[in-house]
Amino acid sequence: MDKFCIFCGNKPENKNKEHVIPQWLSKHTNRYQKVCEFGESITKAQIPFCALTFPACTACNDAFGKLEATVKPILLDIMDGKSVNAEQISLLMDWFDKIRVGLWLSELTLAKKVDKIEPKFHIASRMGQKDRMLIIERFKDIGEGLAFVGTNSPLFVESPSVFALIVNDFVFINASEFGLVSNKLGFPNYNKMKLTNNRNAQTLEITKGRNKTTHPVVSDFQASPTRTIIYQPMYRGVPNYKPSKEFNVPYVLNHSLDYENGVGGIFVQRGDNQIKYIDQNQTTSLAPRAKDPSTIGNTLQDVFKLQNFVLSSRADIDSRRPADSLFWRNMMAKNIVLMNAYATRKK
Ligand SMILES: [Zn+2]
Repeated sequence: MDKFCIFCGNKPENKNKEHVIPQWLSKHTNRYQKVCEFGESITKAQIPFCALTFPACTACNDAFGKLEATVKPILLDIMDGKSVNAEQISLLMDWFDKIRVGLWLSELTLAKKVDKIEPKFHIASRMGQKDRMLIIERFKDIGEGLAFVGTNSPLFVESPSVFALIVNDFVFINASEFGLVSNKLGFPNYNKMKLTNNRNAQTLEITKGRNKTTHPVVSDFQASPTRTIIYQPMYRGVPNYKPSKEFNVPYVLNHSLDYENGVGGIFVQRGDNQIKYIDQNQTTSLAPRAKDPSTIGNTLQDVFKLQNFVLSSRADIDSRRPADSLFWRNMMAKNIVLMNAYATRKK
């Protein structure tokens, strides 16, 4: 397969290189020259972070470089326990979309699966399209480090919806899928989905939302003093949201960052487990209380558990064949094996 730009998917114009894990982050964690940990098939390739690059157009790289420059202080502030606002959290969520899809394209390319699973989307077309969720945990005395988890599962290779990024003593579990959190946050609900040939949503049946939040947002994933969870309903990727009367209601308007562009607002669940909407002129700190490092294996198991949850909660795909269901059930079973491997894993 010909080389393609990680951002737009076209033949790279004025070819340039994009670091899949941004240089500022691998330098900040003192990992720039070091081999990637955890992402197992990538580890086998023994690639240091500084060489984990992908072709990109110069123009695309410059545009996404602006996002990097904006997000760097946001992520560092969050890890310092400083407060951030809803707009900043939304940009951080864009950044996690970027890293997740970038790692997926790298995984496909490095594992030489790129010809078999021809990527139907790239960073630019996937960022900020679907509902998103971010779980934040931190661990005591874990030291410097940078790693990603979950990108080696067969399920992630097929459907890159959930992964974790470990940055020093913080673990960030990021998930994104249509309707993952919308309904429980009071936004319209998505039912049957029809896909286009390149597996994008072509039509999605929309029913009106409850206009209030409902517990639990994602069952089995609760907040606690040691776990902060962020949710953002995103409807930019919903094919027919604009003319839809289900979206044109005060609740959605009042709980969106950018209604015109389908960007929902930020909801946070912290120690008291209340689901709180972060108003646009409000700031909040997100760092939870640190946990005992011996429990990190359980946190990493949750990456695979959430991968399975996201797949099973997906809107029904019209005309899905029985063979497809069997295929996905098989992927989920493989994920349980991977999950169990983390049960006893310590730092
Ligand atoms: Zn490009």
